[in-house]
Amino acid sequence: MSTKAVKNTVKKTSAKSASKQVEFKYARDTKCKFKFGAHVAMAGGISKALTNAMNIGANSFALFLKSPRKWVSPDIKEDEVAKFAELCQKYGYNPRTDILPHGSYFINLANPDAEKEEKAYGSFLDDLKRCEKLNIGLYNFHPGSSLDGDHKEALKRLADNINRAIKDTEFVKIVIENMAGHGNLIGSNLQDIKDVIDMVEDKTRVGVCIDTCHTFAAGYDISNQEKFDEFFKLFEDTIGWEYLSAIHLNDSKAPLGANRDLHQKLGYGFLGLEVFRIIANFPKLQNIPIVLETPVDKDDTVYGEEIKLLEWLQDKKSDDVEYIAKSEELSKLGAKERAEHLKKFETKTSKTAKANAKRALQGDIGDMLSKKKKT
Ligand SMILES: [Zn+2]
Ligand SMILES: [Zn+2]
Repeated sequence: MSTKAVKNTVKKTSAKSASKQVEFKYARDTKCKFKFGAHVAMAGGISKALTNAMNIGANSFALFLKSPRKWVSPDIKEDEVAKFAELCQKYGYNPRTDILPHGSYFINLANPDAEKEEKAYGSFLDDLKRCEKLNIGLYNFHPGSSLDGDHKEALKRLADNINRAIKDTEFVKIVIENMAGHGNLIGSNLQDIKDVIDMVEDKTRVGVCIDTCHTFAAGYDISNQEKFDEFFKLFEDTIGWEYLSAIHLNDSKAPLGANRDLHQKLGYGFLGLEVFRIIANFPKLQNIPIVLETPVDKDDTVYGEEIKLLEWLQDKKSDDVEYIAKSEELSKLGAKERAEHLKKFETKTSKTAKANAKRALQGDIGDMLSKKKKT
């Protein structure tokens, strides 16, 4: 296969620069049935994200609407809003369906501390208002954590805040991302997400984003056709297809059930290339943003290559000779990192197993002693 950069030339339409041409690194396949894209940078102004998306040949993209690690950021300037709309039009991105901003990492709408919860809500609402200013129809965020509080109450708090945010905005759909299962995180199992959606009043304004790495890390195996189908059957039965609004595409550096949120390049990790081949041939995922968040080196070139890889995987069968060769090639490139993370995982699980055994033994002795006392 050829994953070489194909030069794509788009003529500038404005009269002023009619003679100038903008060149993109990767040709965009607008006829592709899937909206393969990636998380792109917005440094230098939010409208830069559109040029970055074109550069990697993306049919959809994610971005931050403000610095994801700061509480307050300056408002988006009016001229940036106009430029964003102009470039959406020019490059053919529908902001209502093709753009999936990612929320700030520290927003925890389920925080049991009322003051912190309110601060999180302020930042969340600010993000949603930014979406609507840019005419963006989807907003993806991490559902947060119950911390040391009660999990059920945390789900209720989250749902209450979603209801409140829906009332405070006009149209943007709030998309809940599934999590990798560390600690008291909400959304590491599908039931959490279902419970929250059940408490959302306007169900047309809520959706779900499935991250392939998080799913696998949380203990749902999706690495082959049978397991993949099993997971999506569970998704269908628990949540329902109508809520599936986006996919985050990442391989996983850590093994199944490791509860580690460690993204890896496609085919390098413990998931392997097969799940991405399955996705590229799964019609149910057409028309929703499928966004890469794999590690990048210096620039976004990796994304350009990975989007071309995903397009190439369409119509490939699992026994295709070229596909098998590609899968093995990528797997080899990730072998060293997989070995390192497997070792870490095994050390951790054996420590936990020992600790559990010790606790069980102490429990047994405790039981025996208490029984002795009773008798
Ligand atoms: Zn995320
Ligand atoms: Zn992640």
